[in-house]
Parts: sequence; C-alpha cells; structure tokens
Amino acid sequence: MGAHLRELSLGFQAFLELLENRGLPTQQAYLMTNKNNICTDICIVGGGPAGIMLGYLLARSGVEVIVLEKHSDFLRDFRGDTVHPSTLEVLNDCGLKDKFDAIPQHHIQDAAFHIGTEVLPLMDFRGLKPFDYLALVPQWDFLNFMAKEAKQYASFQLLVDCEVTSVIIESGVVNGVMATTPAGALEVRAALVVGCDGRHSTVRKALDLKVTDLEAPMDALWFRLPREDTDAGGLEAVLGAGHMMVMIDRRDYWQIAYVVPKGSDAELREQPISEFRRLVASLAPELKARCDSIQSWDEVKTLVVGVDRLERWHVPGALLIGDAAHTMSPIGGVGINLAIQDAVAAANVIAKTRRENRPLDKNALSEVQRRREKPTKRLQTLQIIAQNRVVSGTLESTRELPKIPPLVRWLSRFRRFRNIPAKIVGYGFGRERVDRSNFKF
Ligand SMILES: Cc1cc2nc3c(=O)[nH]c(=O)nc-3n(C[C@H](O)[C@H](O)[C@H](O)COP(=O)(O)OP(=O)(O)OC[C@H]3O[C@@H](n4cnc5c(N)ncnc54)[C@H](O)[C@@H]3O)c2cc1C
Repeated sequence: MGAHLRELSLGFQAFLELLENRGLPTQQAYLMTNKNNICTDICIVGGGPAGIMLGYLLARSGVEVIVLEKHSDFLRDFRGDTVHPSTLEVLNDCGLKDKFDAIPQHHIQDAAFHIGTEVLPLMDFRGLKPFDYLALVPQWDFLNFMAKEAKQYASFQLLVDCEVTSVIIESGVVNGVMATTPAGALEVRAALVVGCDGRHSTVRKALDLKVTDLEAPMDALWFRLPREDTDAGGLEAVLGAGHMMVMIDRRDYWQIAYVVPKGSDAELREQPISEFRRLVASLAPELKARCDSIQSWDEVKTLVVGVDRLERWHVPGALLIGDAAHTMSPIGGVGINLAIQDAVAAANVIAKTRRENRPLDKNALSEVQRRREKPTKRLQTLQIIAQNRVVSGTLESTRELPKIPPLVRWLSRFRRFRNIPAKIVGYGFGRERVDRSNFKF
C-alpha cells in the first residue's frame, strides 16, 4: 500500500481493507476520498466487455483512462459468456492469447437445431481461420482477466462501486460525468466520455440521443439445469410446437433461455412453477427428472429482449459503443463480440488521434461510427430475420412443429454450408484488428 494511504483515518482504513479483501484496487479509494473531482483524458462509463477492452487498449497506448463501473465486481448471473473467434484474434494481437487459454474454459465447435426427434446441424466452426471454436468462459473471469492486465499500466484506473448519474455538458460540449460512490459524489472531468454502459445506458439517456427501435417479438427466461457428462454438448436450439429454448453447455450445468412471446412473462409467472417445469420437460423429455431442481420462480430470470441502435453514436465530447450504441438481440450470442470489436475500433482511432496530437473532434468520433455502423446493421438485420422467421414462426405455430425448408435440410449436411453461419457468428462483419503501431507491444 502506498505511503500516502497510511495517513488515512481509521474508518477509511476499514474501507480499504474491504476493497483489498475483494481484490479491488486501493488506489481508487485514495482517489475517491481525497478528492471529489478527478481529471483524466478519457473517461469510460461501464466496465463490461466494451469498457474494459477499450480501457485496456488505451492504457497500452499510454493514454490516461478511467473506467467507472457501478457494481463492486464483475459477478453477474446469466450474462453472455461466449468469447468468439474475433475476440480470440484480438487477444492474440495483444499477445494475451496464451494467458487467456490458461483460464478454465471449454470450447464449442458446433450448434444444432433439435425439432421434435430430429437433429439438424446448424453451425460448424471447424476449418475457420485463425480460430475455429467459441470459448465458453464466465464473463466475470474474462473481465477480471482483462482488468488485471490493464492495471499493469500506470495510466489505467478502474473505479468500482461508482455509478454515473449524469453527464456534465458545458456550452454544448460533454466535459465529464457525475457519479455516486461509497465515499460520496465524484466529478470526473475528461477530454472524452465514452458510454459503454450497456443496454440501459445512462449516458445515452442523459444525451437524449435518437434511437431506432427495431423491436423484438420475444423475451427470454434464463435458468439452469444440472448437466451430466453423458448429455450432448455444445449449443442447442430446441424447437417445439409453440415454444422453444436455447441450451448452452456450461460443463456441469445447462444455461437455458426459454423463449416466450414479448410481454407474456408476467402471465406465465402467475402459474405454479410446476407448470414451467412441465413446459421445459415437454421440450427436452430427457431432462424431465432434472427439472425438479427448479424450485421457484426466483431461479428464473427474465431478460426483456430489445434490439435498437442510435442514429448518431457521438456528440461533441462523447462517444457511445457496445450495447449503449446498439442493443443486440441474444440471437447468435454476438453482443460481446460486437462490443469488443467496437472497443478495438474506438481504441485505434483514439490512440492514433492522440499520437498525432489531434483533437478528438467530430471527424475522429464519426470515424468510429463509420467503421462500426455497417457491421452492426448487418448483424441486426440477420437477427431480425431470425426473430421473425424462426422465433415468431415457432411461437405462433402452437399445433405443429416448425418446418425446415427442404433445401436448408439438404444443405445442412455439408460442413461448408454450416461454416457460413458459424463465420458470421464467430467473426461478424468488418473484422477489427488492433493497429499495433498505436500500442506498446
Ligand atoms: C442474459 C443475457 C445473455 C446474453 N448472452 C450472450 C452470449 O451468450 N454471447 C454474447 O456475445 N452476448 C450475449 N449477451 C449480450 C451481451 O451480454 C452484451 O451484448 C454485451 O455484454 C455488451 O457489452 P457492453 O460492454 O456494451 O455492455 P454490458 O455488458 O451491458 O456492460 C455495461 C457495464 O456498464 C455498467 N453500468 C451500467 N450503467 C452504469 C452507470 N450508470 N455507471 C457505471 N457503470 C454502469 C454495468 O454494470 C456493466 O458492467 C447476453 C445478454 C444477456 C442480458
């Protein structure tokens, strides 16, 4: 602990110990209690995949950066836990791939539709280059790993328990944010605020940015069931008459999203939990006995699915990326992927602009949107098509099983055909690579 921290009062000392016990940076406590205002170059709001990756890359370019995260840690239930090939490629660019590989994880190379008793192979990552698998890693492990790497750089700060409540706008320019912390209010002044605060973004609301709502016909109920070694693995979409669910193999358990028509969650929750168990078992009879492990509705979490995007991702002094700029449907599980690709694009632009001593003006910020808008629109378009054709089609057809077009059934026999959706999900469109000339490697 730094010498300056020893001067602190006993009460604060206890707070520090608490942070240390949780493995959190004590330096941040010093910042929060000794000052109620901080100046930095880049202030990132939100420590999710977009915020932590951007913070890491900027720190590596020598830019002074602070990430403000409202939670005290990265532990969250039912988050996206897939690290896609494009992110593996970014980690490789950064020289972190070997260290990442040491995190306990397992790999998925294919996905299938289960319709009644028929199994239709859907995606195959085998043969894709340079990486041919999805790594399943709990999101908190991934974020802890990236944050630990970022903290090695003196120009990086992560302030947790720090919730941004408003944006400071002066003469039409964003100059910082106001936040609440356990030690009181905090003002952070910055040359650029980057909103990475997810689908309910405070920065987005504060800036009153225009949103295009693309609508989703469904919501998802997330829960877990025990998994056994003899179960099939990978990713499975199970389609029945009038209902469906997506099962993600998490080694010792299945993470499952039961898909319901939008807004129907409350009605279902009025039924006893046994009715929910019955519905799940009717889709996956082999899991019937294990459905008893769902004891109450408290174990079932609702995700209100939304798909939207901002018309403009930036204003003078602020930029938004990740879900804050474009909330993604869970279809294809591409949200983390896209958020990280946005972070790489933003880091490349910010680091280059700083290296060339240019201002982070409209030209620089619009460059990020220009690079990332098209890939986002394309993925959202595909998600909407899948939502309308597969999800709505299944939920509406309550009397019979969904029908697969014969051509799709025939094509799905060929790996090269199954590689196409795998490549879109795995690498997305408009692949971003770390521009090594801007970073310290
Ligand atoms: C249940 C569920 C399952 C999903 N499954 C997948 C999947 O399998 N694969 C996949 O790729 N994607 C998945 N997604 C989508 C994916 O999680 C998101 O697209 C992705 O996390 C977006 O990253 P982000 O960094 O933009 O935002 P988030 O991950 O939402 O991170 C935002 C961060 O900002 C913080 N924050 C919010 N407000 C404030 C504030 N005011 N002040 C400070 N901090 C704040 C939040 O605590 C959070 O840590 C899933 C989403 C959900 C909800």
